[in-house]
Amino acid sequence: MITADRWYDTNPDHENYYQGDILSGIPFPVWPTFLPAAKQDVWGILRPRPRRQNADMHPAGEALWTLPNDLIARAAKDFPDAWARPDRDGEYVITFCRKIHVAVISRSCDIDKANRKHFLVAPVVHVRDLKPEQRTDEKLRDLRANEIFHWFYLPEKQPNLPESFADLSQMASLHRTFFDEEILRDNFVARLSGEGTAAFQGSLSSFYGVSFGFASHDTCPQNGRYACSSCFHAGKNEPYSREVSAGNIFGDCGFCREDAMWVKMP
Ligand SMILES: [Zn+2]
Repeated sequence: MITADRWYDTNPDHENYYQGDILSGIPFPVWPTFLPAAKQDVWGILRPRPRRQNADMHPAGEALWTLPNDLIARAAKDFPDAWARPDRDGEYVITFCRKIHVAVISRSCDIDKANRKHFLVAPVVHVRDLKPEQRTDEKLRDLRANEIFHWFYLPEKQPNLPESFADLSQMASLHRTFFDEEILRDNFVARLSGEGTAAFQGSLSSFYGVSFGFASHDTCPQNGRYACSSCFHAGKNEPYSREVSAGNIFGDCGFCREDAMWVKMP
């Protein structure tokens, strides 16, 4: 059973951010891209409000496009030149932000670099906020075993993390100024333990990675020593390896059998 004692660091420092850190109250955007492309013309587009006799006006009578602070919002279809203005390569659009818990996805070594301008984060969803049809016994059992492909399970941790999961399918990058020292001190919720971090990296690699290598029944293209990457992903310290000659079939792994994935060793 995955418990807070196993999953979270019991004595986290507040000096540095780490991959997997959970923070509260971070503005997280919901883009209008949730609408299908066919509905793009109903996106809320923001344009500077045209004003008569205004010092900000361009001689041609159009408001200058500087920092927009007096805007009107319209459906894109109400602007005939939406997405097509030659003086601009995009549009300001209406985005809805909620302050929610997020999990840091960026790797710890990237976070340390001051020239990295953005942190990649995933929204943290509280189980109690799921719709009843998403909260079936079967689904909760899989979630609590951390076996749902795109969700990373987060057990309850007092005082401010109800039972939750990080939704790995909904990541967004946020400017690093959302993650300064003050936020770390005031909004820190939890840090993963060694075991939790390993499980988190396993979830990320299975969600975004593709296991690669030659299968058991493939023919070896080049003489060499090959190791089984499935062993590595299964957490074996010493992956199974063997010499294989060009033209021969790789064969099964001594540990993973027919699930072997053979990669050439340097
Ligand atoms: Zn293996």
